[in-house]
Amino acid sequence: MGMKNPVYMDHNATTAVRPEARDAVALALALTGNPSSVHGSGRTARRLVEDARDAVAALVGAEPAWVVFTSGGTEANNLALRVLPKRAPILCSAVEHASVLSVMDGIVEIPVDGDGVVDLGALEALLAGEDTPALVSVMLANNETGVLQPVADVAALAHEHGALIHCDAVQAAGKMAIDFRTLGCDLMSLSAHKIGGPSGVGALVVTSGVEGDLALIPMLRGGGQERGRRAGTENVPGIAGFGAAARAAREGLTDFARLGRWRERIENRLRQHADSRVYGFGAPRLANTSCLTMPGVEAETQVIQLDLAGVAVSAGAACSSGKVEPSRVLAAMGVDANEAATAIRVSLGWNTTEDDADKFVEAWIQVYGQAQAHAA
Ligand code: PLP
Repeated sequence: MGMKNPVYMDHNATTAVRPEARDAVALALALTGNPSSVHGSGRTARRLVEDARDAVAALVGAEPAWVVFTSGGTEANNLALRVLPKRAPILCSAVEHASVLSVMDGIVEIPVDGDGVVDLGALEALLAGEDTPALVSVMLANNETGVLQPVADVAALAHEHGALIHCDAVQAAGKMAIDFRTLGCDLMSLSAHKIGGPSGVGALVVTSGVEGDLALIPMLRGGGQERGRRAGTENVPGIAGFGAAARAAREGLTDFARLGRWRERIENRLRQHADSRVYGFGAPRLANTSCLTMPGVEAETQVIQLDLAGVAVSAGAACSSGKVEPSRVLAAMGVDANEAATAIRVSLGWNTTEDDADKFVEAWIQVYGQAQAHAA
């Protein structure tokens, strides 16, 4: 719409495809072969899938055999929550993504504090009250605020009470170092398009300890692909792109951490101009994410005005639909609904430049100034 080079500040919704991933997808598309076929063409396709499995496993310090490729983070979360038989209790933090919280009825929410960090005491009390094995699902990094959860502590508590721990690491992967074993997870969800791969591909990492009564219950049955855990001919180009993105993201972790400096400068400069509140400020956060208010200006208005000024941001968790609803995450943090309605999410990415950060600040100040002039 006549806009050249918009400043893209919505990397938590989806990020730019990395050149390495684009090349890997193109290469895979140029090949013919089903990974299940025994001939040479099939074996070539199989090699692409297994190379990608190694790279995805390496990104989070897991064993390649634990990686089950899926159609994305949503499917990985859905698959993870089906791990327990019958009606075993599922405890999820109140700030989980909809693809965790909406999977089934009867999910018990673990409360969070004012910064959005899960309340470990409340979790312990909930676990103590369960006499059947439970599944605890707590994300590593929140998509709206970037707030990090104490997943290793959550995992230790879960295991003490005989529960399994699933971690939605969709937003954390590629943005911070992740070690599956140190975190003590049993299951972890990942998504390619959040780390610079194509959309429509992801993975559920499942340790070999998830077996027997607690074995994964496949959602898709048919062929024996993914060791019977997810049937269907593999999305070879998508998986190859995911693998290439995982490698590039792992190599870029140090650079990514530097985004924290620009994020800090953005927050500091905005707060010189307005009484802007940054959610989750008191907690450890991803380096790239800022959820902040523009006093008195609806998020939807900000998104439109910033878009007109050539800057793409999102109002809350708008990675699902275009519509703006009150943020469940901010509500769980105890934020007043009227104030929450003025919060936008700004998320930087692997290809964000310092100039992008400055342009966002200028645009934000301009939009705020216009709103104030309008209100006067
Ligand atoms: N989990 C979190 C925390 C997310 O931010 C997203 C993003 O939409 C998802 C899961 C879903 O991933 P996907 O878009 O690959 O289905």
